[in-house]
Amino acid sequence: MVSAQISYLLFMKKLVSAIGIAVLLYGCGPAKKTTASEAVNPVIVPRSGWNAAEPKPYKSHVPVQITIHHEGTKLEVTDDAARKIKNIQTWGMGKDRNWADIPYHFLIAPDGTIYEGRNVFTVGETATEYDPTGHLLITCLGNLEQQEVPPAQLTSLIRLVAYCCKKYNLPLETLASHRDHSLQTTCPGKNLYQYLQNGYIRAEVKKLLVL
Ligand SMILES: [Zn+2]
Repeated sequence: MVSAQISYLLFMKKLVSAIGIAVLLYGCGPAKKTTASEAVNPVIVPRSGWNAAEPKPYKSHVPVQITIHHEGTKLEVTDDAARKIKNIQTWGMGKDRNWADIPYHFLIAPDGTIYEGRNVFTVGETATEYDPTGHLLITCLGNLEQQEVPPAQLTSLIRLVAYCCKKYNLPLETLASHRDHSLQTTCPGKNLYQYLQNGYIRAEVKKLLVL
């Protein structure tokens, strides 16, 4: 019995150390490795990356606050986000809306890729009653009322908000979402809005702003 117990203990010890090594290796893997500078200077795919059309003449503004949206139609991690963005622009500039360009200044795909939208110094567009003059519009692609926010998308949103706060001198205190400015929408969807409500996004951005 005693020797059986000892060999069991030895086995458990080996198992625990094997798990420990696996955790360590995972922690050091490339997916987890982000330098401070990468975290606050995220890679932004330029307009050419989604084959953007030239904008029409537009109204200029200086952004003073960040407003978060979701795009509102379902998009999976495996879907072609660049194509989706191109379609949003084509629809928005068409006879339905007659917008100057894609409505948002930045767009974030479910896989976390950040895309450049319209010129930051032009007023964005909205389908509701609020006036987006002075708002820097960031949208997360997908329907985040129905879909969970993919972790990569949430991480990119936090990095992009920190980047925009720094680059355009926008106070983090003014960070809000579409539904905070409009009674006509649930945008950015309850699954994303919870991270604004509970202060998670703000707290994570704050950590990046001191880097
Ligand atoms: Zn919205």
